[in-house]
Amino acid sequence: MVVGHGVEQNTFRHGEFPDERGRFGRFGGRYVPEGIMAALLELESAYELARADAAFTRELTHLLRVRVGRPTLLHEVPRFAARLATPGLKVYLKREDMAHTGSHKINNALGQGLLAKRMGKRRIVAETGAGQHGVAVATVGAMLGLNCTIYMGAADMERQQPNVVRMRLLGADVRAVDTGKRRLKDAISESVRDWVSNVDTTHYLFGTAAGPAPYPRIVRDFQTTIGVEARSQILVAEGRLPDYVIACVGGGSNAVGAFHPFTGDARVRLVGVEAAGRGVDTGEHAASLSAGTPGEIDGSFSYLLQDDDGQIAGTHSVAAGLDYPGVGPELSHLKDTGRMSHAAATDALALRGLQLLGRSEGIIAALESAHAVGHLLDLSERDELPADSLVLLCLSGRGDKDLDIAAQQLGLG
Ligand SMILES: *Cc1c(COP(=O)(O)O)cnc(C)c1O
Repeated sequence: MVVGHGVEQNTFRHGEFPDERGRFGRFGGRYVPEGIMAALLELESAYELARADAAFTRELTHLLRVRVGRPTLLHEVPRFAARLATPGLKVYLKREDMAHTGSHKINNALGQGLLAKRMGKRRIVAETGAGQHGVAVATVGAMLGLNCTIYMGAADMERQQPNVVRMRLLGADVRAVDTGKRRLKDAISESVRDWVSNVDTTHYLFGTAAGPAPYPRIVRDFQTTIGVEARSQILVAEGRLPDYVIACVGGGSNAVGAFHPFTGDARVRLVGVEAAGRGVDTGEHAASLSAGTPGEIDGSFSYLLQDDDGQIAGTHSVAAGLDYPGVGPELSHLKDTGRMSHAAATDALALRGLQLLGRSEGIIAALESAHAVGHLLDLSERDELPADSLVLLCLSGRGDKDLDIAAQQLGLG
């Protein structure tokens, strides 16, 4: 019954962005040293050829089907919807949590892995924060026979030990980064250094729809499989487009992937939900669209959290995957044009969403995805959701990785 699991249709329907300079309106671009520029341009032209090549798309579509489990399910959650006060509300979940390795990250990792092979690279390097992107990359490395090196901040390695074990079981060389704050930002710097010194053999497999051009576009295209599937699935199930598409926002890859095929449908409201942490007014959050200002981060011009001197601010979220001080350029542009609205859910609201979805439907969401669920709860409780709304919510990942945090925060176990 489900059609449209290919990346071939994803594209380029709203093909005006990015422009030829890699810009989404005033956002994006390439703010990088000379040494990286050549590698980015090589990647850009290789990607242009790949996406125009039917054989590339065919292989990606095939592997997404047989190795990732696409198309992922889209189904209604009536018991959950009934717990919300909005009369006639219908909620559908797009189940990226059921993709191999438990989140949407594999869509991008597989696409870029195939691209690396096509470019004749034998090796992939990647950064990881919580380890979710690292696990997806290590999985793809094993699947495609590519050597895989993952840089991870030493502080993150201590906190995310199970994912370190997973990556090593998958054959990846996991390297601790001891510079700076020993976190994601430092791991990105090390990955770039490795890439630039080994660019003949190595592809840098960046994990979200941010960074310098062409990454925001490449990652968006590979994640757009989410929205392409969901759009045709909800048309089959309901005979109409949803009123809302809601997704959580870290760097923005699952959100932009879910939103992209709907950007031309003016009546579909797109809502990106960031991490409000302990509250946007406490300063302890990761809400770059809500509370940030435009500036340069990781090679791109975009909304970010910075202080008055332009220093990147510290962040907090209960969800490691949302704990990033920036957001990709396409979502920044969708915010400025008003096409997307944004909201922020606190740790507490996300934990409520997590529990309600678990109890009413038997689905343990990732804490990241639980922010989108929590925001829906909040909309309904504030009476801001019209009766008979049809909501499509992207459940970006599963919560198995978050059991310790849930136990601690909710006093379980
Ligand atoms: C990494 C992650 C996110 C955030 O990343 P985006 O690029 O914003 O999608 C969201 N959900 C899950 C489950 C993740 O692992």
